[in-house]
Amino acid sequence: MALYVQKFGGTSVGSVERIQAVAERVAGFRAAGHQVVVVVSAMSGETNRLVDLANAVQAEPDERELDVLLASGEQVSVALTSMALLERGVAARSYLADQVSIHTNGHHTRSRIEKIDTERLREDLEAGRVPVVAGFQGVDAQGNITTLGRGGSDTTAVALAAALRADECQIYTDVDGVYTTDPRVVPSARRLDRITFEEMLEMASLGAKVLHPRSVEFAGKYGIPLRVLSSFEETGSGTLITTEESDAMEQPVVSGIAFARDEAKITIQGAPDVPGVASKMLGPVSAEGIEVDMIVQNVGAAGQTDFTFTVKRSDYADAMRLVRKVAAEMGAGEVTGDNRIVKVSAVGVGMRSHAGVAMRMFDALAAENINIQIISTSEIKISVVIDEKYLELAVRAIHQAFELSGSAEEEID
Ligand code: ASP
Ligand code: MG
Repeated sequence: MALYVQKFGGTSVGSVERIQAVAERVAGFRAAGHQVVVVVSAMSGETNRLVDLANAVQAEPDERELDVLLASGEQVSVALTSMALLERGVAARSYLADQVSIHTNGHHTRSRIEKIDTERLREDLEAGRVPVVAGFQGVDAQGNITTLGRGGSDTTAVALAAALRADECQIYTDVDGVYTTDPRVVPSARRLDRITFEEMLEMASLGAKVLHPRSVEFAGKYGIPLRVLSSFEETGSGTLITTEESDAMEQPVVSGIAFARDEAKITIQGAPDVPGVASKMLGPVSAEGIEVDMIVQNVGAAGQTDFTFTVKRSDYADAMRLVRKVAAEMGAGEVTGDNRIVKVSAVGVGMRSHAGVAMRMFDALAAENINIQIISTSEIKISVVIDEKYLELAVRAIHQAFELSGSAEEEID
């Protein structure tokens, strides 16, 4: 007998039929003798609908009231899911965050879970009941409703699994696991049986939008085995995200290829090569809350140096304006930029024990005549910035170079 926290996302509870299917699945786990805590998101499209309503009423919706509004989506789905379980003779009870309670810090629309009371949930589990908990919401020290940021139900599920010391946290979604890359770009991409937290975190934050990045961080920190599965399939073991690496023999050098489409870069030429320049250039940018990703500074010559950094495409215009101002003040040269770039990354813990990984990636790009504009590396990742028009080609070439495809016959050239 195991204790599972099972989270069902918006599409998995998107209609009465889907909610019935969730209840069927949970009933099956109960019948097999397992204990289950269910976490659900709002029905698909509902949170967006509520955001639109808020925007129609107030130009910049008050964040406290926005949280009250958005939390209502999950109130509907917990009640309906609980009813569907009761209809099948499975004892169940729905809970909102303040009934559990799920305590958060007070940041509206992006709060963090600080503590979860488990007493009530434990009582239910011992009495053979299935608690059905609203994802995405919490309650702050003053009793205000807060939300965890879009996609935050994953994090609710992992936090509950950590608090209850569950055997596994299962995230049911509309894909059957984590893939070596986006199958829409590489049709022969393969589902990974397992991946480490570190790798998943890179994949998630690089745009493989399967899991809320904070939920992966949380699961890694507390060592909660996390599994991504499809709620649309009867069977299948999905992808297990764990702390354990495979045996060195089987460990692939690269586990997956991630990419981010919406990138932009800014270059400052002829900046004075003196202490404090980087901080002066980037200070105003980060003060605006703009996230700077890659930063490259050239070797200086004749007292001057060049400087390039990347930001999200949506922050490009603001960052450009700020940097032009500082560059003029410090007497730097031209500031140029490009918002038609993308970032492609090879991710794998196997890189730690293998040499030549970067060369394999660069060779694959060279063979396709793709120019690399920026390179950055970490212990488990190699990222390159390239022109956006080569994104698909680059991902396919690198995916092939590391032999990540399912089977040779499926390969599409
Ligand atoms: N319902 C929320 C959203 O749409 C939370 C979630 O789905 O995880 O962002
Ligand atoms: Mg989601």
